[in-house]
Amino acid sequence: MPEGHVLHRLAGEQQELVGSSLRVSSPQGRFAEAAARLDGCRLDGVEAVGKHLIHRFGAESLHTHLGLRGVWYRSAPPSPEPRPSVRVRLADSAVAWDLIAPITCEVLDEAGVPALWGRLGPDPLRADTDPERFVAALGRDRRALGVALLDQAVVAGAGNVFRSEALFACRLHPGRAASSISPEEARALWDTLAGMMRRGVEDGRIITVDVPAGSDRLDVPEEAARQVYKRERCAECGAEVVTSEVGGRTAYVCPAQQPAV
Ligand SMILES: [Zn+2]
Repeated sequence: MPEGHVLHRLAGEQQELVGSSLRVSSPQGRFAEAAARLDGCRLDGVEAVGKHLIHRFGAESLHTHLGLRGVWYRSAPPSPEPRPSVRVRLADSAVAWDLIAPITCEVLDEAGVPALWGRLGPDPLRADTDPERFVAALGRDRRALGVALLDQAVVAGAGNVFRSEALFACRLHPGRAASSISPEEARALWDTLAGMMRRGVEDGRIITVDVPAGSDRLDVPEEAARQVYKRERCAECGAEVVTSEVGGRTAYVCPAQQPAV
């Protein structure tokens, strides 16, 4: 599933549409009625919060979530005819953005956007974020740390890759109770997550291994880009990575560097 860095990067790329009156259509038809309502409206802004994207059109907003398989495609005119699977196309005279296979695609009214915001925890990638909400949430959370980190009400935008890599970097075991870590450890975990996610926005992918000075980060092959996630051996110490199910997703742990207590 795309993690928060993908949405923030998309929000950045789609700033090119802001200020234009957009042609909004639903070639697939499933969003046709709502698209007709937004068609011709000026896009006032686009922003990401967690794994959600919000396009503001006056009092109404387009709310989308990519889920597991969703994807946005950009094309410049002459844009190809949209594929029949395109749920929504946003276009101005210079560019078209097509959304395919989202898990959520809906119009929210003025009350709907703050309601969505209210369900989400702080997003490390937003300027208005509040790390202390994360620290406080972990402090009262008796679930496993690895479960809490996937809960979008605890931290918005983190997914399984960031969970594995940030816990490894902080030497924290995902099975520990979230409330067992100190506020200092929670703040360090937040800073680590935020740093990894910001770098993810810049790189357009998740690279957590150290890249030698002078070489291009983006040259790191995908299978070697992480310390423990989907690796047989820890990239740092060589220990065999241990996997287990935590919060419905596979957690990857270096047993030598992430003690269970
Ligand atoms: Zn290791």
